Amino acid sequence: MATIEELIVEGKKKVHSTHAKMLLADLLDKNPLELLLHLDEEVTPEIEQHYYEQIQKLANQQPLQYVIGNVNFYGNTFIVNPSVLIPRFETEELVENTLNFIEYYFPQKDLKIIDLGTGSGCIGITLKKKLPTAQVTLVDISKEALTVAKENANLLDVEVTCVESDFWENITDRYHIVISNPPYLKTQEEVEKIVVQNEPHLALFAGEEGLDGYQKILSDIKDHLEDQYLVAFEIGFEQGDILKSMFQTIFTDALITVKKDLQGRDRMIFALKKKA
Ligand code: GLN
Repeated sequence: MATIEELIVEGKKKVHSTHAKMLLADLLDKNPLELLLHLDEEVTPEIEQHYYEQIQKLANQQPLQYVIGNVNFYGNTFIVNPSVLIPRFETEELVENTLNFIEYYFPQKDLKIIDLGTGSGCIGITLKKKLPTAQVTLVDISKEALTVAKENANLLDVEVTCVESDFWENITDRYHIVISNPPYLKTQEEVEKIVVQNEPHLALFAGEEGLDGYQKILSDIKDHLEDQYLVAFEIGFEQGDILKSMFQTIFTDALITVKKDLQGRDRMIFALKKKA
């Protein structure tokens, strides 16, 4: 039987050593640092075989998160597969900023929140974890994505409502918080190969200007907002100005803010309507 050290050495020949360690750690249910304390330990032939299969997938340019099958988002583990976008750091920032707005301006316990284009469910489920008394609705046009979102809600032990819908199409209710990380890439946008070749295009691309998703959501949004509301979208780094003017036309009496991500690029937009 091979030892942990031997497997890492072999894996490193095909993929980055960090990835090799992460894969093996995941298979052995340890964290990568713990692994280094057990280098002489032998692993079972089943694990060895599984490990080499996964190394091959990585070597074939599949994203680590799909190969491992999960990802950490805002402190919780979410299952992911190729039916859903892999949650990104920037989206954690959207959640963080939204939680700050909610803490300040929405003290009510019966908050209604909707996450449009929920994918893995990472945004809505994280909000429900943080705000257990809120009613959270997760929406996606993809049945496969909603299956993943439901699985994540179960694993993370939260109760949410899941609706298969093209944004507002099958939604009748009004909400205080409308949050979304819709597809926002231009059809022609240059995107890393590992992303275009593996992640769902439905989750990435949104027409010539990358604005189709926002246009769809915004066209009906007024029918779905409570008197006091927050609209929170993730945006492309070049879309701040255009979205700001779209927001100004629609949310005439709200406070509109474009925020940058940790890399200093426009990444989020918010419209906040406070109590009159
Ligand atoms: N809401 C999910 C996320 O932020 C999916 C987003 C998407 O598919 N565009 O990761």
